[in-house]
Amino acid sequence: MQKLSQSLLQQGKRIGFVPTMGFLHEGHLSLVDVAKKHSDVAVMSIFVNPTQFGPNEDYERYPRDAARDQKLAQQRGVDYLWMPEVEQMYPAGEQTKVVVTELTRGLCGPFRPGHFMGVATVVAKLFHVVQAQVAVFGEKDFQQLQVIRRMVKDLLMPIEIIGVPTLRDPDGLAMSSRNVYLNEEERKEVLGISQAIQAVQALLKNGETQVEKLLAVAKSILEKSPHLKIEYLEIVDKENLEQIEKIDRPARILIAAYIHQKRFIDNGALE
Ligand code: AMP
Repeated sequence: MQKLSQSLLQQGKRIGFVPTMGFLHEGHLSLVDVAKKHSDVAVMSIFVNPTQFGPNEDYERYPRDAARDQKLAQQRGVDYLWMPEVEQMYPAGEQTKVVVTELTRGLCGPFRPGHFMGVATVVAKLFHVVQAQVAVFGEKDFQQLQVIRRMVKDLLMPIEIIGVPTLRDPDGLAMSSRNVYLNEEERKEVLGISQAIQAVQALLKNGETQVEKLLAVAKSILEKSPHLKIEYLEIVDKENLEQIEKIDRPARILIAAYIHQKRFIDNGALE
């Protein structure tokens, strides 16, 4: 992949990159559309990165279907699909990590120790191989997007990062490879997350800017789902991800919740 990228760059091609963990859905494919708009050659990687999963998380169970992914990627116009092996991404004896500090202290950070170190490290490696001029990430993983932006700035990486709004199913559920874990009943309950976000967005539109009030409404909606356990529910400054009391600048509501050991995250703009 590195040699291929070098040759593409020598030919004057602009490379657009979409890193994923596969089991592709329309959300992933919308990133491909954006990558293609900003480049001559679209590269997608599929790599279920072991270092971003905690010991009790779903690394082994994470859904995988290479043949299906290949077909979907090709249909959508991905020019090169790269599926590295764990041993290639992590050479024997590896001991180098990328750590983004402040931005990973809150939200998912404390609940998934080491997660963002795994993400930043693997994305840095992927970037070094693919050498794209532009990479596309989803706002679905909003903290991740801000972590990547910070890493690129701090490590002076010559790549532009584009964030793409979350694609949702018609009922509002954010598309995710992990949605296949849900049965019908669970799915109904998980919908409380996107409903809470929408309700808060509607309240803000009507002029409510007090974070305490907005969070109370979100909480009451989430509590209508009896098996849904809130991990965090926060409204933060969009840039530094720090909690705010009043929406007087671009902000974001972020929610993580569990149902029967299965974890879901979602977020929405409050601007
Ligand atoms: P993943 O395969 O879950 O690691 O996701 C790969 C990329 O797709 C990340 O940049 C995600 O933020 C993005 N993504 C995941 N779900 C969605 C969605 N529903 N809409 C838009 N982008 C998404």
